[in-house]
Amino acid sequence: MSRSVYVNGAFVPEAEARVSVFDRAFLMGDGVYEVTSVLDGRLVDFDGHLARLQRSCDELSLPNPYDRDRWLAIHREAVARNGLIDGMVYLQVTRGSSGDRDFLWPAPGQCPPTVVLFTQSKPGLADNPAARSGIRVISLDDLRWGRCDIKTVQLLYASWAKTQARQAGCDDAWLVQDGMVTEGASSNAYIVKDGRIVTRQLSRAILHGITRTAVLRLAAEQALEVEERPFSLAEAQAADEAFITSASMFVTPVIEIDGVPVGTGRPGAFVARLREIYVGEMREAAI
Ligand code: PMP
Repeated sequence: MSRSVYVNGAFVPEAEARVSVFDRAFLMGDGVYEVTSVLDGRLVDFDGHLARLQRSCDELSLPNPYDRDRWLAIHREAVARNGLIDGMVYLQVTRGSSGDRDFLWPAPGQCPPTVVLFTQSKPGLADNPAARSGIRVISLDDLRWGRCDIKTVQLLYASWAKTQARQAGCDDAWLVQDGMVTEGASSNAYIVKDGRIVTRQLSRAILHGITRTAVLRLAAEQALEVEERPFSLAEAQAADEAFITSASMFVTPVIEIDGVPVGTGRPGAFVARLREIYVGEMREAAI
């Protein structure tokens, strides 16, 4: 089915959606994005994603073209027009096109941002088989730039890492800096040891995951202990359980790291329970 895609103020059939070849995102990766999950036709943690979009824009002096209510209306219209039940809404804001290739950022107000938003249908998003089977990851050096806290469309290393993982017969990659895990290629990374959750603290080295924030809040409400600090691959391989979080994978168990089984090598009860709590709460609170 042809999707109805939002481009710069209007919904158009996907085959008619056009952006300039001089768009700075196309030439320089000069744009930011968000992915918001949809469950039962409703947006999961929309305000978290909007807050991070604003932060990404502010960090890069990119104008955020719309306020929260306008963004919400566009998201809802995209969901309605495309009959989306379960899946994701992808949005991208770029620094636009000044009609030529130029390294320098155009002066503020000189060049309107490009806005693109589309839906991706994933029936049964919350019943992903990976939640029951767990995923296997390989480790790779974290060769990304130094501002991984900004959600830019510059995803070459992430897509390369995921492709290398697939070529190695695994599902995903965990990235490692100075012997310590930063995060997954498109997720935050966690281990569980003796009932305590360990995940890297926020910094410029990782994306400040919206799912991470929600999961840590829910963990606190459940009186679970959380340590925010770096952990090594060896510590992860010796953990009781491990998992990732992201907007589209929610909470997903990791059962193997570089060929070494984590715990029993099967998804464990701790992570299964955390996922259940997270999905339950988010489904309830979706708007
Ligand atoms: N880290 C990276 C590098 C990511 O790409 C993502 C997903 N966009 C995440 C973490 C998880 O963030 P979120 O929970 O907001 O989807």
